[in-house]
Amino acid sequence: MEIRNFCIISHIDHGKSTLADRFLELTGTVPREKMREQFLDLMKLEREKGITIKLQPVRMEFDFSARRFIFNLVDTPGHVDFSYEVSRAMKAVEGAILLVDVKKGIQAQTLSNFLIAKKEGLKIIPALNKIDLEVSDLEEKRKALANLVGVLPEKVSLISAKTGFGVDELLKRVIEEIPAPKKEIEKPFSALIFDSEYDPHLGIIIHVRVFQGEVKEKDICFLYHQKEKFEAKKLGYFLPQKVEKESLKAGEIGWIATGIKEPDKVLIGDTVLNFSDFQNKKEIFVLPGFKKPTPVVFASLYPKNPDDYENLVSAFKKLHLNDSSLSWQEISTSLGRGLLVGFLGLLHLEITCARLKEEYQLETVVTLPTVRYQIELKNGKIIEISDISKMPPLGEIKKILEPFVKLEVFLPSKFLNEIFSLQEKYRLTYLNTQSLGSDNILIEFEAPLSEIIVDFDDVLKSKTKGFGSFSYQLLGYKESDLKKLEVYVAGELQPALSFLVHKDKGYQEARKLALKLKENLQREQFPVIIQVALDGRIVARETLPALKKNVTAPLYGGDFSRKKKLLVKQREGKKKLLKLGKVKISPEVFLKILSR
Ligand code: GDP
Ligand code: MG
Repeated sequence: MEIRNFCIISHIDHGKSTLADRFLELTGTVPREKMREQFLDLMKLEREKGITIKLQPVRMEFDFSARRFIFNLVDTPGHVDFSYEVSRAMKAVEGAILLVDVKKGIQAQTLSNFLIAKKEGLKIIPALNKIDLEVSDLEEKRKALANLVGVLPEKVSLISAKTGFGVDELLKRVIEEIPAPKKEIEKPFSALIFDSEYDPHLGIIIHVRVFQGEVKEKDICFLYHQKEKFEAKKLGYFLPQKVEKESLKAGEIGWIATGIKEPDKVLIGDTVLNFSDFQNKKEIFVLPGFKKPTPVVFASLYPKNPDDYENLVSAFKKLHLNDSSLSWQEISTSLGRGLLVGFLGLLHLEITCARLKEEYQLETVVTLPTVRYQIELKNGKIIEISDISKMPPLGEIKKILEPFVKLEVFLPSKFLNEIFSLQEKYRLTYLNTQSLGSDNILIEFEAPLSEIIVDFDDVLKSKTKGFGSFSYQLLGYKESDLKKLEVYVAGELQPALSFLVHKDKGYQEARKLALKLKENLQREQFPVIIQVALDGRIVARETLPALKKNVTAPLYGGDFSRKKKLLVKQREGKKKLLKLGKVKISPEVFLKILSR
């Protein structure tokens, strides 16, 4: 049997998972009665949100002109926060279908994923999807994609993942154009771990691409970098559910149950070898592994129930097996014990919290997401912080530096003015414009990362009717005129709500935050004063009125002097409370205030 390994890459929503559905149908991998839309989006969360979060391999078998083929298809996510998933998927395959929605054309992740695939040396098959839809400039879109990939326009397949049009032709191209993996079965076993998961019974299950040799059940294996030995308890392939098999051979993609229970012992990107090959110093083949992605958004997570702290730590270790881009450290603050976590973006943060809830039944409180700042002190020392409440006193600070990115915005040129109207709000410095053909352009800006991670995504989408998209790369740190914003509720500092803001936006942000607090805080028996300070000076103030308990209601129309007496009594009670006045902010309220 011959093998072809490939992935489908594209910008989000261009139809990868739907195309995978058609392949599953065409090859009879999933019986018609079991088929459901975006079949490979297995996680409940993926189905709820309608997006792919995890890479997902599946094995399909199919006959083509009397030759039997095994296809290992890896479906990938399209959102920029999950591009690390895509880059790992690409290490496991020889080729990629680059899918572009014919209505939207080339977008940010089309280009960035294309560039990664090219760098990995993958064979790329370009295809325009959704051609069942009416479009006026099909040939132009085809030309633009052909130009990007460097092929003739005829070499861009036209398909509809929805109706199935052109899908069998596309699979034929996979056979003809994507190289078969090398079948070096005689060589010592070596496989790349590109993903893993935790199973309470089987321990850690690693997802591997075998590059040479063969592994069988009960083989004693060895993790090269982690220096960890284990017995292959069970192994097999993905359908996409796990199916057992006696062996995995060079060129195949599958899973191995290691029996290892400690999450720290397995490293994504490690090479799996046969232990005796390693001991006998056979000609082993070690794979280069993966470059760890740099986290860009930082937030502290606390368990909603403080007793759950240990559970939170253990959940994170297990989640890390399945999402190796997460990094964290343990912290202890006025909010209790928690974790300071680095994420690849805001969606990554949101998904992580949702997964903790869904998969580990853990509810968390999250602080305001920030970037990592560099602070140069007057004594010459430079420190890095992401928790602003830990910032040294202003008097000791010489300057504050923040991360800047090269921001690439993709959009049809008719929205050009819309994007320039965002320049001031997001502190964008214009760099360059480039045409991508078929009326699509790419505009480059330099921008502070802190401005981009908040709501740029949503705003760009709404300004461009969903056609605009962006990606960014870190450029480095630069000095900015930033002010420290702090919140006091009933006179008490709320460290979780401290953040840095650019001086031009200080007042505006302070007022916005004060109002938001007023809207979201629960009323108390006494009026609650909300204050927001900029670099120590109060610049915004709101009062949350006290709860009005209508003590006089039963006396309606009755004795006026008794009514007055009651009201006076109530006022005095309130005064007393005000003195004691402590306000407890619930996690839900924190979350509401923190989500902008
Ligand atoms: P992914 O994010 O790239 O995996 O995209 P999905 O496969 O989840 O598809 C995104 C949306 O596009 C879904 O609503 C699909 O039903 C729709 N879609 C996918 N392929 C086609 C197609 O060929 N034609 C049309 N009209 N819609 C499609
Ligand atoms: Mg998808």
